Amino acid sequence: MTELPVLNTPPALRPPVDSSIFDYKDLLEGEFWRRIPAYADVDAATFLDHRWQAKKTIFRADKLLAAIEGLVPGGFIEDVERGFHRAPMAVRVSPYLLSLIDWSNPADDPLRLQFIPMASRFLPDHPKLGLDSLGEQADAPVPGLTHRYPDKALFLVLDTCPVYCRFCTRSYAVGQDTDQVEKVSLKANKSRWEQVFAYIASRPELEDIVISGGDSYNLRADWIEEIGTRLLNTPNIRRIRFASKGLAVMPQKVLSDDAWFKAICVVSDLGRSLGKEVAFHTHFNHSKEITGISARALRRFFNAGIKVRNQSVLLRGVNDTKEKMALLVKRMGHINVTPYYVYIHDLVQGAEDLRTTVQTAVEIEKYVRGSTAGFNTPTFVVDAPGGGGKRGVHSYETYQRGSGISVYTAPSVKPGKYFLYFDPVDQLSEEYQERWRNPAEQTKMIEAALHEARHNPK
Ligand SMILES: *Cc1c(COP(=O)(O)O)cnc(C)c1O
Ligand code: SF4
Repeated sequence: MTELPVLNTPPALRPPVDSSIFDYKDLLEGEFWRRIPAYADVDAATFLDHRWQAKKTIFRADKLLAAIEGLVPGGFIEDVERGFHRAPMAVRVSPYLLSLIDWSNPADDPLRLQFIPMASRFLPDHPKLGLDSLGEQADAPVPGLTHRYPDKALFLVLDTCPVYCRFCTRSYAVGQDTDQVEKVSLKANKSRWEQVFAYIASRPELEDIVISGGDSYNLRADWIEEIGTRLLNTPNIRRIRFASKGLAVMPQKVLSDDAWFKAICVVSDLGRSLGKEVAFHTHFNHSKEITGISARALRRFFNAGIKVRNQSVLLRGVNDTKEKMALLVKRMGHINVTPYYVYIHDLVQGAEDLRTTVQTAVEIEKYVRGSTAGFNTPTFVVDAPGGGGKRGVHSYETYQRGSGISVYTAPSVKPGKYFLYFDPVDQLSEEYQERWRNPAEQTKMIEAALHEARHNPK
């Protein structure tokens, strides 16, 4: 028998931590909005009132630019004016959001990047990009209901949001028409909803409904109760979730729109009495979007016993480093938001400058996993273009780093099919950028990737 060595050195003590690791607890407080001249005289009671936030929300590019004139570096205004002409999404910016942007360096600000386009930063769209890249309309049995997965479906209740994101996957429908896009209509409309309820009731395999849009923030209290009650009273339904970007751009609503919040609670309480889950899904992308006001809003959900989960989008310049993503994840955990997904940016028109590579996602995931509780660690997913659904970013059949093509399969969603995702061309080597300029070479690269996926999967 071999003897085990005797360990007589005590285990090393962990060195004390650097105080910077607690940055996630350092939430912005105070009257930060007063540094914007237009809000210099606004007191806290006014700023915390969602009606004031809604009334002062800016819908037009010229109004936005007028509000920040004098704060921004030269050339910025013209750059944004040209940006709005080329953008597929309309403008909508709340005073809260406007106050959080660093106007002395708007070009690199993580909130400016998400909501306000600069023409000089635009990159050409990927040659393989389409307007409804996820094929949501192809999987819609009735207008505004996407039934792609076996037991869950996505209900697009309305087509407006409290903010418009440059990178919106649903730029085909969400927001007003722009110079670039005439939208598919998915207005809040009771007869359209009736078709959706009838379809859901007719499909016993459907158990789980995502109520999205558009955005649940823009649903009236009576609509929330009506939709929530109808769905929960459908025998096959076990789980519903309201999806909203609102907490990231106007947390005031949760604190001061009592009718709206009460409607969410009524639905949640009904769900609890029926043994069914009602959750709320939000959309924070950067730690700066979470302030003391957000923490108080989240506390209201927590006290009402409503689970809040978060879905982020991985965005270049916003959250595409391991440090930024880890800070966001920790800060969300701190305010009782469960980080659920980080989506690799969809192939969306006019937002190529915001996309990253699959490799970036793989590296960030590796760092974030292990940094906090497993249940507070988001899953990094690619929503496979063409309707494959969400796939774990690591689960590609092949990933051709040169051409930036990754190939996924989705056995329980669309068995036998292959789905392609494309890294942004500007992140590839000169040689491959050249090949993407040539349609014959594009076909060759795609065929090579598909061949590898079929014959030599990972
Ligand atoms: C994301 C999504 C769902 C919900 O999927 P989960 O993985 O459960 O969050 C349902 N339907 C569609 C079409 C979706 O895109
Ligand atoms: S909040 Fe969601 S649906 Fe609305 S514009 Fe942003 S990404 Fe699109």
